[in-house]
Amino acid sequence: MSYTNEFRIKTGSKVNLGKIDAGYHGAFENEEAVSAELNNYSQRLTELQALMYAENKHSLLIVLQAMDGGGKDGTIHHVMAAMNPQGCSVVGFKVPTAEELAHDYLWRIHKMTPAKGHITVFNRSHYEDVLVVRVHSLVSKEIWSKRYNEINEFERELANSGTTIVKFFLHIDKEEQLKRFHDRLNEPDKQWKITDSDYTEREYWDEYQRAYMDALSKCSFNYAPWYIIPANHKWFRDLAVSQILVETLEGLKMKYPEPSVDLVTIRQLYHNEVAEEQGIPHAALNVEEEQPKGKKGKRKGKKKKKKK
Ligand code: AMP
Ligand code: MG
Repeated sequence: MSYTNEFRIKTGSKVNLGKIDAGYHGAFENEEAVSAELNNYSQRLTELQALMYAENKHSLLIVLQAMDGGGKDGTIHHVMAAMNPQGCSVVGFKVPTAEELAHDYLWRIHKMTPAKGHITVFNRSHYEDVLVVRVHSLVSKEIWSKRYNEINEFERELANSGTTIVKFFLHIDKEEQLKRFHDRLNEPDKQWKITDSDYTEREYWDEYQRAYMDALSKCSFNYAPWYIIPANHKWFRDLAVSQILVETLEGLKMKYPEPSVDLVTIRQLYHNEVAEEQGIPHAALNVEEEQPKGKKGKRKGKKKKKKK
């Protein structure tokens, strides 16, 4: 099953979150049932990120949005665990500072987008400027309603410059949110996460859902698709997100760059060094023997004559 197709919001379609089952878990019954597949995707993510870093041509921006308790932190933990910290980063966007508020709302966002070869995860994003900002009327409707187009243009510009964008909305239902707040209350290692706003914001659940439905409906394009991930089950959420990331990265058809040096020459230098170290004549070492697979005998400009 390709969740890339199943959970992707088609451009122009009208999202109704009330009709999307947050408890969906495909054909899998439980965490054990996904563990082998999840492991494969994690390994593949490790390889693909190394490739992206080496190729230094593409970048990947992962946008994560969810209601409070939706599992952004857990998803980041899981996905990032597969990646080499050199080449990826996570940026959290909180209530804007005075300096950030003195600029346009995309100012703080744009400067954190990934450079070539890098992966960046946004834990919340510019979408807060059409979510919390809209729900709490932090700016007028006239202002926030123009932002969908502005965001689309901004993301298009990023995409045109070589940034692949994937956006995940981790969809939980209201009961699951309360269950997670209960866990926060009862598990000492989660209590630090509790805020007063967990409960005050819950009163705005319906307004948030409406704001999300608008953002998801108006801002999903091929160059920057939204995916709605059923996220009541954390193990299914991690599986779907990992699979979509793997398929997205594989779609880039990345390749390791050719070495910038002549390997035959470098190999000769290496063998000379080894010979020096061991005090044996250079000729006694067989340079050809250590050629990597598929490269044996390939020497620039020097064709070996066939033995007759
Ligand atoms: P957390 O991600 O749980 O640490 O919380 C960050 C808080 O910052 C959330 O309550 C967000 O709603 C809030 N926040 C993020 N971006 C904005 C924004 N542009 N304007 C107002 N509040 C924001
Ligand atoms: Mg929070």
